[in-house]
Amino acid sequence: MHRRFPIVFWARVFVGVVCLALVAIDGWRSWTARAERLLEMERATFNLARAMAQQADDSIKAADTSVAELVERIEVDGLGEAALARLHTRMVAQVANLPQLGGLFAYDEQGRWLVNSRPLLNATLNNADREYFRHHRSHPGRAAYVGLPVVSRSTGQWIIPVSRRIDKPDGGFGGVVLATVDLDHFRRFYQSLDVGRHGAVALFNNAGVLLLRRPFDDATIGQDLRGSNLYAAFMPQRLAGSASLLSPLDGQVRLNSYRPLQHYPLFVTAALSRDEMLAQWRRDTFLRSLGVLLLAAMLGLFGQRLVRQIGLRERAEGELRAARDALEQVNRTLERQAMQDGLTGLANRRQFDVTLGNEFSRAMRYQHLLAFVMVDVDYFKQYNDEYGHSKGDDCLRAVCAQIRAQTPKRPGDLTARYGGEELAILLPDTDLAGAHAVAERVRAAVEALQLPHAASPFGVVTISAGVATLMPQRDVHLAGMLVDAADQALYGAKSDGRNRVARAPVLARLATEPPPPPRTT
Ligand code: GH3
Ligand code: MG
Ligand code: MG
Repeated sequence: MHRRFPIVFWARVFVGVVCLALVAIDGWRSWTARAERLLEMERATFNLARAMAQQADDSIKAADTSVAELVERIEVDGLGEAALARLHTRMVAQVANLPQLGGLFAYDEQGRWLVNSRPLLNATLNNADREYFRHHRSHPGRAAYVGLPVVSRSTGQWIIPVSRRIDKPDGGFGGVVLATVDLDHFRRFYQSLDVGRHGAVALFNNAGVLLLRRPFDDATIGQDLRGSNLYAAFMPQRLAGSASLLSPLDGQVRLNSYRPLQHYPLFVTAALSRDEMLAQWRRDTFLRSLGVLLLAAMLGLFGQRLVRQIGLRERAEGELRAARDALEQVNRTLERQAMQDGLTGLANRRQFDVTLGNEFSRAMRYQHLLAFVMVDVDYFKQYNDEYGHSKGDDCLRAVCAQIRAQTPKRPGDLTARYGGEELAILLPDTDLAGAHAVAERVRAAVEALQLPHAASPFGVVTISAGVATLMPQRDVHLAGMLVDAADQALYGAKSDGRNRVARAPVLARLATEPPPPPRTT
């Protein structure tokens, strides 16, 4: 895992993940903040719509209560002069009582003015053409009728007519009692609502005709908005609800809450502009996102530098490791070279001396035999003279290779170049006969090479060997003694005619002797 993906890779992944996490967390926070803001906005429009519905219901209800009372009086008391006078007094009192009430009026079945709340009665006016009048004339129902806003004939003000039908004793149409509710009453209330700069509130009747809207524009009063999205959203259930809609009047997208009035076939809507409501959120989000992005960028940059540093360090460490490996390799080579003879590849004299010392001590400690064979090439000076020094070297290499092939490879055994054309074989835990056998095998093998040697009486290159064995005793023997003994034996082999193996007589006897008694000094 670690090999396949280096630390730099993981560092890069880490920096990337931290940066991404930072951005993602901020993005998520912004998104939830937006959702919260919209929810807040929905609550606000819901509450606005409820307040508006309540206000409209109350205002119309108050006017309607007066109308209903007057209708009842006319139907019971009739329209005698005294009755009309009482009605007039009553009307004046009620209008004085209710600030939203513009006036109260009673018309006969011809639309003529019978009595009203004004000080003077203008009997020349006729309201038979008014929409509410025609409605009652053609509808026998007793329910209140809230008409479309009109400009009052008596005051020139915008009013909403609230009317009921007067029935004659036989059930025929007997006229209309009308209350006019000042549109200004609604206007003032709508003006007092906090809907922001681009918010809108409106009052509709259930047929989709606009009664009043803020932003105020008289031209929109009475506008038929049956085709609007808002009406389409409200109409199917005629219950309170909300919807994000594009206004057909000013092209703003708003969150609309709509709500029907409890007692009259009207509904209100309160709408807040989405853009306006989210403006603060947008500003906050923009600033914070900018900060977060800046932070992420700085983190990314800093992380990148850090990763690069890690990479550089990794590389430096790799190079250091490689250098150390190379150095170790060189050291091993040097070590080997220091212990090896360059010409023959055998252990050199130095290694031989170290090994001899070690093996001598070990043989002394464990009381076993240590055998040593000294080998010398016969007539080698003559060989050099005959074939040249270079050929002499080749010959020496061939002889050494053969000797190495023939000598045992037990731990502790060592074949070394002792010096010149003299070779040494160290054989721990080997008796004289065993060492002799090894030496003889080596000698025979060299002879068997049949390397021509014209200057030798044997005609081929041969070797002589001296063998010595010793069980070293402390304070009695030295390693040099073993070498000397083998050397002497070699000397013997040379003087006996060469191409032979000779044993060292004295040490051979010593090796079989029992250990000397401990010294008593
Ligand atoms: P002997 O049979 O008595 O051993 O006669 P020898 O000629 O071998 O006599 P000795 O051992 O004294 O001579 C050693 C000679 O071996 C001396 C030198 O010319 C030769 N010699 C020693 N080392 C090397 C070497 O590394 N390369 C070559 N080519 N010759 C060497
Ligand atoms: Mg020699
Ligand atoms: Mg020699």
